[in-house]
Amino acid sequence: MAKKQVYFFGGGKAEGNAAMKNLLGGKGANLAEMANIGVPVPPGFTITTDVCTYYFQNKKACQAGLKVEVQKALTKVEKLMGKKLGDPENPLLVSVRSGARRSMPGMMETVLNIGLTSKTIPGLVKQSSGNERFVYDSYRRLIMMYSDVVMEKAAGIEPADEEGIRKQLEKIMAQMKAQKGYKGDTDLTAGDLKKLCELFKAKVKEVLKKDFPDDATEQIWGGICAVFDSWNGKRAVSYRKIEGIPDEWGTAVNVQTMVFGNMGEDSATGVAFTRNPGNGENNFYGEYLINAQGEDVVAGIRTPAPINESSKSEHNKNLVSLEKAMPKPYKELFAIQRRLEKHYKDMQDIEFTIEKGRLYMLQCRIGKRNGPAAVRMAMDMLKEKLIKKEEAVMRVTPSQLDELLHPIIDPKAEKNCQPLAKGLPAGPGGANGQIVFSAVDAVEWKKQGKKVVLVREETNPEDVEGMRAAQGILTARGGMTSHAALVARGWGKCCIVGCGAVHVDYAKKEVRIGDKMFREGDWLTLNGTKGNVYEGQLPMIDASENKMLNDFLKVCDSLKKLGIRTNAETPDDAKKARQFGAEGIGLFRTEHMFYGKGSDEPLFVLRKMIISKTEEERKKALEELFPYVKRDIKGTLEAMDGLPVVVRLLDPPLHEFVPRDPAKLEQLAKDLNITLDELAKRADNLHESNPMMGHRGVRLGITYPEVSAMQIRAIFEAAAELIKEGKKPYPEIMIPVVCDVKELTDQMTIARQIYKEVLAKYNLKNMKHMLGTMIEIPRAAIVADKIAQEAEFFSYGTNDLTQMGFGFSRDDIGGFLPDYLKKNILPGDPFQSIDQEGIGELIKMGIQRGRKTRKDLEVGICGEHGGEPKSIDFCHRVGMDYVSCSPFRVPIARLAAAQAAVS
Ligand code: PEP
Ligand code: MG
Repeated sequence: MAKKQVYFFGGGKAEGNAAMKNLLGGKGANLAEMANIGVPVPPGFTITTDVCTYYFQNKKACQAGLKVEVQKALTKVEKLMGKKLGDPENPLLVSVRSGARRSMPGMMETVLNIGLTSKTIPGLVKQSSGNERFVYDSYRRLIMMYSDVVMEKAAGIEPADEEGIRKQLEKIMAQMKAQKGYKGDTDLTAGDLKKLCELFKAKVKEVLKKDFPDDATEQIWGGICAVFDSWNGKRAVSYRKIEGIPDEWGTAVNVQTMVFGNMGEDSATGVAFTRNPGNGENNFYGEYLINAQGEDVVAGIRTPAPINESSKSEHNKNLVSLEKAMPKPYKELFAIQRRLEKHYKDMQDIEFTIEKGRLYMLQCRIGKRNGPAAVRMAMDMLKEKLIKKEEAVMRVTPSQLDELLHPIIDPKAEKNCQPLAKGLPAGPGGANGQIVFSAVDAVEWKKQGKKVVLVREETNPEDVEGMRAAQGILTARGGMTSHAALVARGWGKCCIVGCGAVHVDYAKKEVRIGDKMFREGDWLTLNGTKGNVYEGQLPMIDASENKMLNDFLKVCDSLKKLGIRTNAETPDDAKKARQFGAEGIGLFRTEHMFYGKGSDEPLFVLRKMIISKTEEERKKALEELFPYVKRDIKGTLEAMDGLPVVVRLLDPPLHEFVPRDPAKLEQLAKDLNITLDELAKRADNLHESNPMMGHRGVRLGITYPEVSAMQIRAIFEAAAELIKEGKKPYPEIMIPVVCDVKELTDQMTIARQIYKEVLAKYNLKNMKHMLGTMIEIPRAAIVADKIAQEAEFFSYGTNDLTQMGFGFSRDDIGGFLPDYLKKNILPGDPFQSIDQEGIGELIKMGIQRGRKTRKDLEVGICGEHGGEPKSIDFCHRVGMDYVSCSPFRVPIARLAAAQAAVS
């Protein structure tokens, strides 16, 4: 590799900076930035992510090529610290950590205390004023981590969890504590730890058939390679798949001088956020442990104490805060976190260590937060003038916004329930589900269509897939900053951690919560906002009424260029969509009007119309259908009060509307005055080999002009009546499944004629309306210039356009899509997010050609893609006027449209 591979930081300056995230990883870039702005950072260096890519191509050559640069950077660190790696008098100890471009908490490896060997141990004892206990505690940690991460995992040895070297060493330690009657790790004496290190090394030799390395240089290279290897470890790979992080990014490796939070009672380590990541309040928030190393806080082994008053919870309120225990370093920490937030203009997640009263910052990064916190922080920082509107809308992801629209436990039901137990509220909202005890079961049960709550004794990053599959997560141990909590929060999952009343028996698949026993499959309900655990299945409600959310969405509206409409077919849905902020209806599917109605009557009449054979029969059925259609369209136009409503003429796959129930068939035959045999024959005639490409949409109107005429009349009469009542209806009549302009000419002639008749009937001079079409057949996009001669608007039906563009049946894609994704033939489901490369080109071509003919052509989208953020961004870029999506996706579309406009 010709490029620079190693970047130094320390002593108030650095070779990198915050802008170099892609090359140095998030952690490396921020360590460099902190060093540059004078925040106390232990010196070290970062090996770039480019090296990681090279490493996987040729591990040996990569290491050889790195040697000189690593040595050079190490010498600089040694000079600055006045210590040397492997030096018996004054040994330097380092940590080796991963750091990808995007944070992947707990998914890759770390090794601490590298440099401790039989040669350097006496030197460190001397350096720490004879603190043998500290030195051997550090050494036993090195053996535990190194044997697990470097000697076992990186070597590709994969024992079952219980047989792994780490678990075996933990067992030895637990045995010793039990023998001596100790409660915590801190009760172990220097002598105990010395003994423990010997036992550990013997066990490592016995299990892994190798001596624990007693050479500092060997250790450092072992650590570096293990971190690179962990990029392709199981956990990291699953996490990347879920989060959509590309495999080729690679991780950087950060080698940094160790500072010790475990040097005694005047030392500590902690994790903090510059604002509360659970609710967004502007309070410095965090947890710490005295006499501990960082892994103790995140691993959830000891319950951490709050750093200050505002970090106190039910769970830790009796523990002494850092503010009280170490006021001087706390004050310094407080000032630094303020500075970091101002510098980065965003909430920071920071790690710190206090070594003998002296504060060091080990990491800072943009803090993960849940949806409610993201919205609150964006709005607060906007008010504080820390950020501008454009920045504020970028601070909330569409999926975080989704969390605010997520269910919570019905407060009325919750009020009458006593919680079984209380834990830390790590992920908000409510969830109920059946208990499972392993990640594998969670995934399996979800596949079977069950809702599960994953109950675990401790937080374990190995469980990511199961956590993803579960409705909620409940753990007995761990703090707010433990890995499970971070990951769950990032996903907006309902999650409770550190619930001490939970005791799991994995073997029996049972859990005791307080004094109640539960088995696998029993129901639990979680309130992740409060940390409450309830027995059974409490009802959920949706939490969309939220003032902060509405204010935030108004900021989005002030920036977005796209209009946001909704797909709705009933006055009720129309009202709901308006509450969510819809600015019109982009698709009223007339045939959906008949779905799910309490009374069967309109559906029955529609069936009668469909099954009619003679014009006379059909006309009679249409006459009966007319009032229903007019009534619902009128109600919807009224509910939208002046906003546009795109009413699409009937587009039903006909055979779907033939009843199957014998009683209904009999009734239909009777009403049409035909025999059951004749009815069966007619129904059979309607059956098509490819109904999606069959007698639907405009083709129906071409064959049966009276069907179009009835609908058009219903729309215009509904509008005319509303005008007479002083309302402002605005219908846009849309013809579906068009492939040629002549189809439109045929239908528009009918529409124009009826328009005149209705004006005369109601004695009106004109009515605001538009006549347009869907573009959902590839040919229509190609001949869009001609189609625009008739159509005043286009609405892209990207469901059909994708179906017909790819030649993938939209109802059957499940049969082969998983294979396409697995083999990377497609990057994702094209029915979810627009295929910009192919279908997108058709869309662009249609818009350009259409607007060539008609400059003011209105263009929108009403396929399912209209509510999907990436597709919305595309629609913005190609110059559409609006997107239309289901009512619940309207807020997300408002945000995505604003983000498209500012980015
Ligand atoms: C479409 O094809 O994208 C569309 C909106 O119509 P439908 O889904 O009803 O076919
Ligand atoms: Mg369609």
